[in-house]
Amino acid sequence: MAYFQWAPYVPVAVRRRRAMKKMEALRKKGVDIQPVEIEGRTIARTFWGKGWCDHLEGFSDFSNRLPRGRTYVRNGSVCHLAIGRGKIEAKVNGSALYNVTVQIKTLPAKRWNAVKQRCSGAIGSLLELLEGRLSDHVMDVVAHRKEGLFPLPGEMSFRCSCPDWAVMCKHVAAVLYGVGNRFDHRPELLFELRGVNHDELIQTDAEAAVSAATGRGKAKRLASDDLADVFGIDLDAGNGAAVQANGNLTRRKATKKPLKTAKKAAKKTAKKTSQQAAVRKTKSTTNAKVVKQTKAAKKVKAVKKTKAAKKTKAVKKTKAVKKKRSGRS
Ligand SMILES: [Zn+2]
Repeated sequence: MAYFQWAPYVPVAVRRRRAMKKMEALRKKGVDIQPVEIEGRTIARTFWGKGWCDHLEGFSDFSNRLPRGRTYVRNGSVCHLAIGRGKIEAKVNGSALYNVTVQIKTLPAKRWNAVKQRCSGAIGSLLELLEGRLSDHVMDVVAHRKEGLFPLPGEMSFRCSCPDWAVMCKHVAAVLYGVGNRFDHRPELLFELRGVNHDELIQTDAEAAVSAATGRGKAKRLASDDLADVFGIDLDAGNGAAVQANGNLTRRKATKKPLKTAKKAAKKTAKKTSQQAAVRKTKSTTNAKVVKQTKAAKKVKAVKKTKAAKKTKAVKKTKAVKKKRSGRS
């Protein structure tokens, strides 16, 4: 008898059924099971999802190991995949159900600050950022091989509970592709994974827009007084429009509001001014009319007076003539 025995072959369908049962049991225990479900053959198609896969495939450390995971992720073997800060946890169905953990270092502050600085003023909104509707410049910055948001091989470590564990087994490879697919649907998870706040990319953008509008060039911070000056309004600190005491704008949710409010107020003021101008115009027009009317009336009056006077004179003259005549006769 051989000292080594092959594990008995278990058909894929049976393995899958077993995995499904285990997932169901975990779900009942309250675990938020998030399977990777891929429609068709394309694993990732968006800027973020495809960017992640392309990035990892670009490293020779991974390039010959990753392809083994493609079939696995396509056929639904990644039964669960959860992404958190610096960590990916997954369950992959192989000969048995294996637990995979991928540790990823959070983005160093220096690198994050550099990304923010380079993207400053170039990202229109959070929606544009997450949908990957970005300029070529921003795309180059965030997806930069060494200086971008995606992790370097040295920042990643893997673990799998399978017996044929190597540097990267096919289960880990499948999970890494699964992450790409997840970023297609929830790109904000990349920022969560790297431990950075995507709002900060937009915040920098909003501040830059304001400083550009005020003609202060590269001034990055605007004090609340400045904002009020720019738009000629009082910023209501109680209305979520909080501006911190040190003059820094608070997170985007708060930042957007005063900006919006300020813009609205500026618009309102502009409207009011134009209305006032219109009123002034009307007034002056009316005045001119009145003057014209008065002048005309005066003229008429004068003419009438003259006429009347002439008439009276004529009548008097006639009367006098008549009198004279009757006196003669
Ligand atoms: Zn494995």
